[in-house]
Amino acid sequence: ENLDKGLSKTKESVFKKLGRAVVGKSKVDDEVLDNLEEVLITSDVGVETTLKIIERIEERVARDKYLGVDELNQILKEEIAALLEENNSGDVSDFDLPDTEKPYVIMVVGVNGVGKTTTIGKLAYQFKQAGKKVYLGAADTFRAAAIEQLEIWAKRVDVPIVKQKMGADPASVAYDSLSSAKSNDADVVIIDTAGRLHNKVNLMNELAKIKKVMSRIVPGAPHEVLLILDGSTGQNAFEQAKQFTKATEVTSLALTKLDGTAKGGVVIGISDQFKIPVKYIGIGEKMEHLQIFRRREFVESLFS
Ligand code: GDP
Repeated sequence: ENLDKGLSKTKESVFKKLGRAVVGKSKVDDEVLDNLEEVLITSDVGVETTLKIIERIEERVARDKYLGVDELNQILKEEIAALLEENNSGDVSDFDLPDTEKPYVIMVVGVNGVGKTTTIGKLAYQFKQAGKKVYLGAADTFRAAAIEQLEIWAKRVDVPIVKQKMGADPASVAYDSLSSAKSNDADVVIIDTAGRLHNKVNLMNELAKIKKVMSRIVPGAPHEVLLILDGSTGQNAFEQAKQFTKATEVTSLALTKLDGTAKGGVVIGISDQFKIPVKYIGIGEKMEHLQIFRRREFVESLFS
């Protein structure tokens, strides 16, 4: 399956570590639990989330008196899936858009290199496949390459793009994008933005200004602020999520590059800790390599 293949590096690593954690053991005891804690932490699940998971398994061991190590995978799956389902709204069902908002406006944020442009291109492709009229807005005017890369994706997917010159006011590009989209009866507009975290006040001001301008053209816009995080950076992704959620109100997350990494466990920690739905995961460089994040399916895939 696609997801299994995309997560193969993480799966392989988790599988090996779990094997070592229970070697020579028949039941889950304190030593196995200690080892398991280490497995989860070194798989980038994050300390806080790992401790929650261990605590749940401890409770289960106490309750059931005896837990065989051969049941450990199944129990991990159940407990992690339950944990992820607790403080989150449900999974997105599909690359679907609410038809109450037209155009539906997605503002995309994230630092350079995380796969922001690629994810925008992949999303445009999916929405177009779903029969939606898509517009792109190149409001990352800080780097010429950002505009060029987005143009390449616009051509590839065959959707219109609104842009200005490098250095132009991002809010002005956003304004143009929404105006064009609205007058052309678009269903969805995806706006790229520059994510320069090293100057947080500037970032906050810039995003606030873009939002304000957009809401003047389309009331309620942006309807979604999608933060892109690079899953292969493990704990850095946590750090960026912290920073961005301080700079603006992030409403959804996408984790990219899970195919090339053994750090896929990061999705579990981020999903648990930020209480912001992880909507999409990137598992390759091609157009089709963006998937809806389905918690049960993800956990099932990692521990099977
Ligand atoms: P940006 O600077 O954030 O806009 O990043 P780009 O979209 O240009 O992506 C940076 C690099 O990561 C490019 O080489 C992309 O092909 C690659 N990339 C993006 N998403 C994925 C993914 O899900 N898997 C893999 N393997 N590569 C990805």
